Amino acid sequence: MNVHGMHRNACAPDGAPVPRGEAPSSAVGAARRLPSGGLLSAVGWALRPAPGRGPVGRVGQTVAMSPEPRPTTLTARAVVFDMDGTLVDSTALVERIWTDWCGPLGLDPGEVLAFAHGRQTADTVRRFQPDLDEEAVLRHVDALLSVEGSAPDGVVEIPGAAAFVAALPAAQVALVTSAPGGIAHSRTAVAGVALPAVVLASEDVAVGKPAPDGYLRAAELLGVDPGDVVVFEDAEAGLWAARASGAQVVVVGDHDGPAAEGLPRIADYRGAGVAVADDGLLTLTL
Ligand SMILES: [Mg+2]
Repeated sequence: MNVHGMHRNACAPDGAPVPRGEAPSSAVGAARRLPSGGLLSAVGWALRPAPGRGPVGRVGQTVAMSPEPRPTTLTARAVVFDMDGTLVDSTALVERIWTDWCGPLGLDPGEVLAFAHGRQTADTVRRFQPDLDEEAVLRHVDALLSVEGSAPDGVVEIPGAAAFVAALPAAQVALVTSAPGGIAHSRTAVAGVALPAVVLASEDVAVGKPAPDGYLRAAELLGVDPGDVVVFEDAEAGLWAARASGAQVVVVGDHDGPAAEGLPRIADYRGAGVAVADDGLLTLTL
């Protein structure tokens, strides 16, 4: 394994939206079990032309394109989620904690928050307090985490996330977060999103995002090839990590940066669905 891995698979897998045919729409977060290789097998379904959709007319006739957004269909053996900004929105909580930390140190909260998003707490402390030794860094981390432990309010579900996670087969789902395990448990609990069985928190991964280690380890624990994983991510560091792992990547939210370039995007999980074939192949409709 390339520990830092930033050069591996630097070009993201082709995550361009695939036109969908006239497939029946899934209920929000609902799983439909399909016969493997049947008429609704993922590839054939995804690539079938859409009757009645798109420009149709006589030669020379101008027909307006349909304004209807085209859903993205992805097939995978497993799904791996980031947590903050991807399954739960902890913005209000995180901003409060980091802003309070910045005050006595004379730091610009905006600058610190821009760096902190998607990264491990210790990495952010080191970045803005470079003269601290490791013992002092850990004291700061403990203090920051204890603030959240005593007042975890302000975390909400990304709309539709709980239903979408619940619709996925439990053995094919993982969470990879830069937060410690205790924080992952408390934030998902407050937001009402179930934690999957496989959770890789900051203490479980030696090198955090943007390195791909967490996503590679998640694929290993799920027993799938990283290329057979769909990762949902929201932040630059996490998107680089997911891309470098070789996974298909979906951007959640409105992050705009180089790592998000060319990737499919969802605002949230409302309207997302999953179909599960007998052989475990997942077809995600986003
Ligand atoms: Mg995130």
